[in-house]
Amino acid sequence: TNLAKLNGHLARFSEGGIDNLIGGQSRPAAGGATFETTSPVDESLICTVARGTAADIDAAAGAASDAFPAWRDMPAAERKAVLIRIAEGIEARTEEIALCECWDTGQALRFMSKAALRGAENFRFFADKVASARDGQQLRSPTLMNVTTRVPLGPVGVITPWNTPFMLSTWKIAPALAAGCTVVHKPAEFSPLTARILAEIAHEAGLPDGVWNLVNGFGEEAGRALTEHPKIRAIAFVGESKTGSMIMKQGADTLKRVHFELGGKNPVVVFDDADLDRALDAAIFMIYSLNGERCTSSSRLLVQDTIADEFEAKLIQRVNNIRVGHPLDPATEIGPLIHKVHFDKVTGYFDTARSDGATIAAGGAREGDTGWFVRPTLFTHATNDMAIAQEEIFGPVLTSIRFGSEEEALEIANGTQYGLTGYVWTNDLKRALRFTDKLEAGMIWVNSENVRHLPTPFGGMKASGIGRDGGDWSFEFYMEQKHIGLAF
Ligand code: NAD
Repeated sequence: TNLAKLNGHLARFSEGGIDNLIGGQSRPAAGGATFETTSPVDESLICTVARGTAADIDAAAGAASDAFPAWRDMPAAERKAVLIRIAEGIEARTEEIALCECWDTGQALRFMSKAALRGAENFRFFADKVASARDGQQLRSPTLMNVTTRVPLGPVGVITPWNTPFMLSTWKIAPALAAGCTVVHKPAEFSPLTARILAEIAHEAGLPDGVWNLVNGFGEEAGRALTEHPKIRAIAFVGESKTGSMIMKQGADTLKRVHFELGGKNPVVVFDDADLDRALDAAIFMIYSLNGERCTSSSRLLVQDTIADEFEAKLIQRVNNIRVGHPLDPATEIGPLIHKVHFDKVTGYFDTARSDGATIAAGGAREGDTGWFVRPTLFTHATNDMAIAQEEIFGPVLTSIRFGSEEEALEIANGTQYGLTGYVWTNDLKRALRFTDKLEAGMIWVNSENVRHLPTPFGGMKASGIGRDGGDWSFEFYMEQKHIGLAF
């Protein structure tokens, strides 16, 4: 069974814990401190994890700095070959990665079995871009042949959150390596398992020592030290908006370049001329998959009042049928939330919704007595000024708000601090063009759920982020533009 297989994979972690990986060496934290990681399924101990300190970050930044010149200058074909071997290493261990990710984060296996392959795909995609990463332009002027070229920044820090941590880590680290940067990765303290597996895969794929360093630990300790380290040239961060603000302050003294993928309160806007069955499927998928712990989730449903009663009635029926259960059960659609603190935050919104005057039309309660399971939840009769419409709940919780006109829909859609994604359902092409032009979101899908295409730019506006990933946009961040003017 999946549980037996998982236990086989976990045995080495429970025996030896998780160490840092610095300069190719597995080491405990300086001073030997550890913390415990537990499973959100039943709160059982998974293993102890090195609690990295500023001294570990310093060692990792030093290793990344020493490894940088050789990695930068390695012929593109060789660098590409290493990235391909990492992709192959991931593909060979997809089951182990998926099972560990589910146990560590509470995500359902039906989604995580694909997440590992997405990780491999990220490495293959950027492997193919290694050869062109340094390409530039020629811009001739009367007396000069001006050429541009791009060079890698140097050692960079990557800080990742606990939601789909494996996939997100590959999404950040693959382009950094393809650009020729070296990396210090600080994964989220709540989900350290697959970051360790990933770093091992890279090591076994023949990545030179020091090119990829892993330092576990807490945000305020290891994370902070990474953002303040003078040898680290940039920080690629995925996490909460308020943490992004802190990182910007922490990095100010060393003038860190930052790339932020932050929170969202993304609208799915359903007009009465849309294909309502498809809109319903997509609205459900985009909030009730991945436990709703997804930055791009459509957590606000904006539904036109002419169809709202019917649409919400169908929604309630579907939400009540969603299967909450053990993450390793292939039938499960929603597993437990990541940990108690987050569970308390999410369930706290049930009271907020009631006291603010919204209706709890589905869910609104814990599921079972152990683990951090919640019922998928739908709030109706909400208005956009309520906390449940403004704050990122980051769970399987949807807030439905009704609108009359297109103008009103736009005002509500744009009426939050966030601007990550938007989903628009209409069969009126002109309306789609008008609406998407004014919608404040970095990524918008019309008549579609979120379908990621790797060459396209990924990122958010307003409090949802700074910068874009994907295709060549990733290299804009991990590389410096250089201009050289050659006189005739
Ligand atoms: P978080 O901000 O609490 O933590 C993210 C990481 O930052 C962790 O590794 C943490 O240890 C570290 N950290 C915390 N404080 C730090 C500090 N002062 N200095 C340096 N590092 C620090 O986020 P989370 O709760 O782990 O993740 C959920 C959040 O991530 C949600 O807001 C979600 O929307 C966001 N997210 C955004 C995207 C996107 O692409 N926009 C993708 C996934 C998740």
